[in-house]
Amino acid sequence: MNNADKIYNLAVSGVQKLIPYTPGKPIEELERELGLSNTTAMDGGSVAIGREPMRLIKLASNENPLGPGKKALAATQATLKDLALYPDGNGFNLKLALADKYAVDMSQITLGNGSNEILELVARAFLTPGLEVVFSQHAFAVYPIVTQAVGATAVVAPALNYGHDLNAMLQRVTDKTRLVFIANPNNPTGTLLSHADLEAFIGALPDTCVCVLDEAYCEFAGDGSADNSIAWLKKYPNLLITRTFSKAYGLAGLRIGYGLSSPQMADILNRVRQPFNNNMLALAAAEAALMDTEHLQNTIAVNAQGMQFITEGFKNLGLEWIPSAGNFVLADLKQPAMPIYEALLRKGVIVRPVGVYELPNHLRITIGTQAENQLFLQALTEVLSGNV
Ligand SMILES: *Cc1c(COP(=O)(O)O)cnc(C)c1O
Repeated sequence: MNNADKIYNLAVSGVQKLIPYTPGKPIEELERELGLSNTTAMDGGSVAIGREPMRLIKLASNENPLGPGKKALAATQATLKDLALYPDGNGFNLKLALADKYAVDMSQITLGNGSNEILELVARAFLTPGLEVVFSQHAFAVYPIVTQAVGATAVVAPALNYGHDLNAMLQRVTDKTRLVFIANPNNPTGTLLSHADLEAFIGALPDTCVCVLDEAYCEFAGDGSADNSIAWLKKYPNLLITRTFSKAYGLAGLRIGYGLSSPQMADILNRVRQPFNNNMLALAAAEAALMDTEHLQNTIAVNAQGMQFITEGFKNLGLEWIPSAGNFVLADLKQPAMPIYEALLRKGVIVRPVGVYELPNHLRITIGTQAENQLFLQALTEVLSGNV
C-alpha cells in the first residue's frame, strides 16, 4: 500500500467498502466515446466527424422526455437575477404550494436536494452501527448505499415476482430494525403494490421502526397513489413518504424532492439537513411545476402511449418484460445484457444495464418520445438480429 492509499484506512468502515452509485451514461460521455460532437442533451442533434450523422438518445435515467414544462422554465429564468442571494432556507413558497396541493401542514414537509437527499437524511438521523435496515432484493440502489455509509446493517428480503414480498420483509423486522425502505412503484422493476397490502404492512410494523415509502414514480402509477398514501400520515407517525420533481415533473437537473411525514419526523430531518440544501432555481421551478397540471398530464399520456408502443415492440421481438407502473420498463433478454447494452451504445442508444440489481439478463428502458422509442426499437431489432 502506498502512502496516499493509507487514507482509506481512516474512513469509517462502511465507507471503506462502499461501491458508489453508477448513474446512467450521460449523452456527452457517449459522444466523446463515439468521437461525435455538437450535441446538446435535449435537442438530440449530433454531427459525426467523418461519418453519417447519428442521433444519440438517452433512455437510461427515467428523465422526462418532454423536458421541463414552460411554467417551470419561465420561473427559473425569472429567478436568475437573484442568484447573488442565498435561497430561502425554509423553502416557504414551495412548502406552501405542496401543503395546499396535498392538504398537509407545512410542518410536515421536508425539502431535499432531490429526494435522494431525503433518503440520506433519514439514514443519518435514525441509524447507527448495530441497527438494521430492511429492504427488498431488486429495490432502488440508493438504499444499500445510505445504509452502509452510516455503518448500519442491510437486511435484504428476497423479491416475489420481481416485486416486494411484504411478508418476507415483515418476517425480517426485529427489535434491531430501525428503518424499512419500500419503493412503490419500484425502480428498476416497475412493480406496484396494492394500497391495501401496503397499508397492512405499514400498520404491522412496530412503532420503533421508521417506514420510508419512496414514491418517486407515483404520478405514473395511475392508481391514485399520489393522493392515497397521504392519508396514512395521520395514522402512522413513523411513516415518511418521499417524492421528487425529477421524474414526472421534468426537473432532474435542478435537484429537488420532498418528504411528507409527521411534523415530528420532519423536525428530526430538519436538524441534520444543510441550511441551504435547496437552490433558488429549483425552489422556484418546482413551485411553478406543481401548478402546471397540463405538462404533468401530457407527460403521463406520452408515457402511457410510449409504454404501449415499446412493449408491443418487445412482443414482436419475442421478448418478455415486467409490467411496469413507472416511466420505464425492464426487458428480459434471456441472455447476458451487457453485450446488447454495448451494441446499442454503438448505435447511439443509451439504456440501463441492471446487473447491480442482480438482474444481469435485463435492460431497463426509460419510455421516451415517440421518435426516441422508434429509434430504440429499431436499434434493438438490429442488435438482436446480429446486425451490429
Ligand atoms: C429517481 C429516483 C429517486 C429520486 O431521485 P432524485 O432525483 O434524487 O429526486 C428516488 N427513488 C427512486 C426509486 C428513484 O428511481
